[in-house]
Amino acid sequence: MSTHAAAFAPPVDMTDGRKNLLGLSRVDLAAEVAAMGEKPFRARQLWHWIYHRGAQDFAEMTTLAKTFRERLAEDYAIRRPEIRRRQDSRDGTIKWLLAFADGQQVEMVHIPEEDRGALCVSSQVGCTLTCKFCHTGTQRLVRNLSAAEIVGQVMVARDELGEWPAPAEGRKLTNIVMMGMGEPLYNYENLATALKIVMDNEGIAISKRKITLSTSGVVPEMARAGEELGVNLAVSLHAVRDELRDRLMPINKKYPLEMLLAACRNYPGINNARRITFEYVMLKDLNDSPEDAHALVRLLKDIPAKVNLIPFNPWPGVPYHCSERRVIERFADILSAAQISAPVRATRGDDILAACGQLKSDSERKTIRGACT
Ligand code: SAH
Ligand code: SF4
Repeated sequence: MSTHAAAFAPPVDMTDGRKNLLGLSRVDLAAEVAAMGEKPFRARQLWHWIYHRGAQDFAEMTTLAKTFRERLAEDYAIRRPEIRRRQDSRDGTIKWLLAFADGQQVEMVHIPEEDRGALCVSSQVGCTLTCKFCHTGTQRLVRNLSAAEIVGQVMVARDELGEWPAPAEGRKLTNIVMMGMGEPLYNYENLATALKIVMDNEGIAISKRKITLSTSGVVPEMARAGEELGVNLAVSLHAVRDELRDRLMPINKKYPLEMLLAACRNYPGINNARRITFEYVMLKDLNDSPEDAHALVRLLKDIPAKVNLIPFNPWPGVPYHCSERRVIERFADILSAAQISAPVRATRGDDILAACGQLKSDSERKTIRGACT
């Protein structure tokens, strides 16, 4: 475990003395079942009930012997995060405030589109990085989320959307974006365990092609994420010069642009059909000039890339403003002329404060805001 992971580890989830089965890898679940003296196929059945059927109670697992179910219920629980509040936006976006066993909270957002829907998931309570335009960055990290708390978010969404087992067609939850609160690559182990569960074909079964991990540029973990998880990568770029990126995103001092872009170039599985998304928040008079756009084209020239332009969402006390619409369009046009796809990210759920940079959860220690699609 890295020092960061050790310092911010989540507490062991043993509320009411029963161990949570959520978040255990297949191997670890099999080991628990073996320790109970049961055959390996029982672990597979249990997995099916938990992650394919969405069962929350051992009593419903009718393919398991009654005595086994009773023994399971004595020592184990299937514990999801608790919903504290749900808000529905005019545009169909849903935001949930979720609480974990120790009372810490995060928000999660579902963004529906015509034929699909993305779930914006958090990886940490707060963030240790201090990006100047992000409200999460003004708050001290409380802690990493456990694998159970990450996969539990997806499961709560499925509960709420009524998708157990997931319908073959017309699903509301088709995509996952790790774009909620926190820096996912600073919580790599728990994230990887959770995403492997989410991707498992005999369970939640959301494929790696439908999962996007957004990082501020934690260079040493990028290749590993690509090799082990194979998910889509989004990189929060936001500036084309080290001097400005150092100021906006202090992680740039550790992993400057050249290193970051080299890691992008080498991201496993990247090709023209599978591009890296570069997120670029539009900040008035700071990073939105035509020169910046041309410099961005040069930086990305040998990387299979697309750019997501995000209108900046202000929050109280922030010294920045969002670029004007015509400035954003001028920027997008320069990228498009260079054959780089550059959609402007639609602001969704702003009436319920669910848009990028508007997430907020009150925990005991402070108010936290996160960013999302
Ligand atoms: N920590 C990760 C993922 C979460 S943030 C990362 O930084 O990539 C998701 C996206 O929202 C990031 O690109 C982030 O830079 C952006 N963002 C943060 N604050 C914002 C704000 N106030 N307005 C618009 N986008 C914001
Ligand atoms: Fe953390 Fe991402 Fe916000 Fe930066 S933009 S402070 S890395 S959540």
